[in-house]
Amino acid sequence: HQTERESMMVVTSFAARYFAERLHQSDEGKSVGLGYLRERGFRDDIIRKFELGYSPENKDAFTREALRKGFKLEFLEKTGLTIVRDDYKVDRFRGRVIFPIHSLAGKVIGFGGRVLRSDAKTAKYLNSPESEIYHKSRILYGAYQARQEIARQDRCYLVEGYTDVLSFHQAGIHNVVASSGTALTPDQIRLIARFTKNLTIIYDGDSAGIKASLRGIDLVLEEGLNVKVVLLPDGEDPDSFSKKLGGEDLQGYIKEHETDFIRFKTSLLLNETKDDPVGRARLIQDIVRSISVIPDSIMRTEYVKDCSNLMKIEEHLLFSEIGKLRRKRY
Ligand code: ATP
Ligand code: MN
Ligand code: MN
Ligand code: MN
Repeated sequence: HQTERESMMVVTSFAARYFAERLHQSDEGKSVGLGYLRERGFRDDIIRKFELGYSPENKDAFTREALRKGFKLEFLEKTGLTIVRDDYKVDRFRGRVIFPIHSLAGKVIGFGGRVLRSDAKTAKYLNSPESEIYHKSRILYGAYQARQEIARQDRCYLVEGYTDVLSFHQAGIHNVVASSGTALTPDQIRLIARFTKNLTIIYDGDSAGIKASLRGIDLVLEEGLNVKVVLLPDGEDPDSFSKKLGGEDLQGYIKEHETDFIRFKTSLLLNETKDDPVGRARLIQDIVRSISVIPDSIMRTEYVKDCSNLMKIEEHLLFSEIGKLRRKRY
């Protein structure tokens, strides 16, 4: 007797095999899907490692095949693979490159699908809906493929998207996960914390990426992890940049540009405010607020020393501000 979750995962694992087979064996998949991935420079070993697939343009090819194989419509609908309205059934994913999303244990629990041409009409990415097996706030893309290496390296890189993860692997960096474009959650940070306490955020080098990095920092600190940030050149994301540099130079760039959160904030905000006292005070308050959320007092002390040196401000003043904020919070 199968539980509902098990029945859903039988369907998603069948779907992953179906999409992969279409990509590698059907004429449409080979020319359109594989063609797209190769044009973007993805190697075959990476395409296989992440079990990428292709969903045909046809409106219900997947659903018909699944029903023919005896899968129940109930679970096709619950996994979001089939959209059912009255007696009208369509495939959710049509004409897209498919990125299966795995649980930590390696089971396929959902999918992301990318259109092959970007236009304003259709969303670039489409994801499986929330379901009993797929909770997007609790999973990180690539965690299954990265978990061993995250533990071995004792560090996790956090990027935005599917292709960022793929490109890092292709460049030989395997300890990487993606938040898939949504805001980072405490559950996702706790997932990383099972394997390492050291996280480096490498989001897209645009204003959205910088804003998301700033939001991420406080959340990561609050969970008691160490956080660093790498700022990419304007307009680059980890995928485009790693293809530009190649594996070795990418590693070098990361080593060179990895900064702790205080220096990251300092370089960002000091750029805006220059050196006037009001701007400096605002920056110090901002850093102090971040330090105050760190649960561990020894870690807080280390950052206070750091901030004191960097901003030329006495430690006891910082401690007193942090104390005020913490008392207010608890
Ligand atoms: P690509 O390189 O294929 O264009 P990307 O990863 O660089 O993709 P971004 O626009 O930087 O795309 O978005 C980062 C991530 O956010 C995506 O990988 C995807 O997971 C998610 N995302 C982006 N656009 C959408 C969308 N319209 N709907 C749902 N998720 C999205
Ligand atoms: Mn982006
Ligand atoms: Mn991007
Ligand atoms: Mn990109």
